[in-house]
Amino acid sequence: MIPRILLVLLLLVPFVAEAQTFRSDDPVLREMWSMGMERSQVEPLAQVLMDSIGPRLAGAPGYDQSAEWLHEVYGEWGIDVWNDEYGTWRGWNHGLLHVDMIEPRRQTLEANILAWSPGTDGPIEAEVVMVPPADQVEAWLPTVEGKIVLASHAEPTCREPQTLERLARPATVEGIQADRRARIDSWTQRLQALGPNAHRALEEAGAIAILTSRWSEGWGVNKIFSTSAQSAVAVDISCEDYGLLSRLVENDQGARVRINAETEEFGTVPTYNVMAEIRGTELPDEYVLLSAHLDSWHAATGATDNGTGTITMLEAMRILKETYPNPRRTILVGHWGGEEQGLNGSRAFAEDYPEIVDNLQAVFNQDNGTWRVDYIQTQGLLGASANLARWVAELPTEISGHIELDLPGPQEVGGSDHVAFLCHGAPGWRLQSHYPEYRQYTWHTNRDTYDKIVMDDLKNNATLAAMLAYLASEDPDRVPRDRAILPVSPNTGEPREWIQCRAPARSY
Ligand SMILES: [Zn+2]
Repeated sequence: MIPRILLVLLLLVPFVAEAQTFRSDDPVLREMWSMGMERSQVEPLAQVLMDSIGPRLAGAPGYDQSAEWLHEVYGEWGIDVWNDEYGTWRGWNHGLLHVDMIEPRRQTLEANILAWSPGTDGPIEAEVVMVPPADQVEAWLPTVEGKIVLASHAEPTCREPQTLERLARPATVEGIQADRRARIDSWTQRLQALGPNAHRALEEAGAIAILTSRWSEGWGVNKIFSTSAQSAVAVDISCEDYGLLSRLVENDQGARVRINAETEEFGTVPTYNVMAEIRGTELPDEYVLLSAHLDSWHAATGATDNGTGTITMLEAMRILKETYPNPRRTILVGHWGGEEQGLNGSRAFAEDYPEIVDNLQAVFNQDNGTWRVDYIQTQGLLGASANLARWVAELPTEISGHIELDLPGPQEVGGSDHVAFLCHGAPGWRLQSHYPEYRQYTWHTNRDTYDKIVMDDLKNNATLAAMLAYLASEDPDRVPRDRAILPVSPNTGEPREWIQCRAPARSY
């Protein structure tokens, strides 16, 4: 005989799983909740993409590997998938990097190569020097032949500002901030004295390596971007280690560094978006577009920019295929290339397929990190706000309860791929999260890795994306495109102009 308390628990289990606060009895939404929240695949999908494939820089083999993997996954799920080629890019990859201080003592330094930097062809070793104050740059430049050059300011502290402000006296904080501003000013002038392209000027003067540091104002985080250098290896050094080298050079303590940087060049390679779709049955030429860029910067694994957006849309497609395999409108997903170089993949798609853009019911883009979606605005589209508000009202409050709707909202002029469609007047929207540590700690940094992903929130976001795609697809009404008068710009005192479309870069 089953004890009474256990029997009560057994009865409660299925009840608990179904006790979501849905507004209607819609069986598809209930099945989507179950598929997305209880039978989620986000964790294994994210693990392969971030850990096994890793960074996905435009033109790098990692991007191709991520595309091949998407083809495999969609293929297994029975979802049509194809590459949409829109141009070419520079084929480049980074391999291993070792940067060691060998004088005045020996220490391995924390470093990341900048994108598209040349490699070293074996270890190189030289004295470290520093770009001097602006008025001395011209006389100094001929002395850099064969040297390793420090070419950015060093931070007075690599402590997170929040910690400093909590623990130090206000006067101490002010002093450090003033010191920092003075360093940044001085270095702006130094780099201007080198001309419009500081890295090129240094290598043309014979520098064999350029070291910089772009601190992201948190413990251990630097933002890692690219270089225009063509012969000198260009490397970002961690805040702490860059400060060490700077102090040694400024105090004439003879810093020498050894660098071994592997890179590969593959010439000009095709660049493309990965597209997949579930064809509509009643209105196949009208589209709901799920959108997230697939490319990333290269110094970490692009977990929150934009691995999480990629997995959100991939998992949403799985949920849709399982629970809503015959949608009313076509559900299309765009895994864009080249977002980090200026929304190139999505801008090219919008330019190349005007018939799709004209027939977009809605675009849902996600590109700002892990954590729950908590803000959606209709980007200045007035009538469309009613459609979105109706869809959000259908969501279970476990998901919609986090979301602030801002209708029609102030409109963004940049930021991510939704603007590639919004600029054409289409309802291009963003599933947004507002969590300040994203920009400080993971966005474009060397710490954007798998461990930062909040899996529960990723499940929430994938289920949300699937439900919104379903509701947008089923809506009896086409989403209207009438535009609100935008808020007044503080600069001009006039209402802001509607966002303009920009041409994508279709080559490096
Ligand atoms: Zn991004």
